[in-house]
This record gives sequence, C-alpha cells and structure tokens, in this order.
Amino acid sequence: MISITLSQLLLILMIPGLISIGLWWLGTVWKEHRQSLTLRQSTLRCRICGCAYPAPEEPNAISQCPSCKSSNLNEPQRLI
Ligand SMILES: [Zn+2]
Repeated sequence: MISITLSQLLLILMIPGLISIGLWWLGTVWKEHRQSLTLRQSTLRCRICGCAYPAPEEPNAISQCPSCKSSNLNEPQRLI
C-alpha cells in the first residue's frame, strides 16, 4: 500500500489546478496580443493630430483624416 502524507495529497490535488490556471492565463495573454495586433493593423493613425480611424482596404492608398481632414498614406508602420 502506498502511504502519502496529507501535505503530499494536497499538493497532488493542487497541481492540476495550478497548471490549468497557468494555461488559462497564457491563453488570455496570447488572445489579447493577437487582438491588439489585428486592431493595430486595421487602424490608421493621423500624422498631424494622432486620431485613429479605420484604414482603407488597399495598401498605399491615401485617406483623409475624419478629424483634421489631412491626407495620410496607408503604409505599414515601421519602428523608429
Ligand atoms: Zn488628423
């Protein structure tokens, strides 16, 4: 017969719960990252006033800012 202490039994019962909470947390972080990446790719930020608005479908299209009416080029954002 296998003899285990009460603390070992509690530890064995807690491990699956901790693993499932960790996996849920990692899934939530990954999902938020994907949503922010999708939102960043589908919005355009005005170079003059900083207003964010939906980007036009076609790449390299010139769109007009709804706030200040300045023209903005829809190009991939580059890191400075
Ligand atoms: Zn603007």
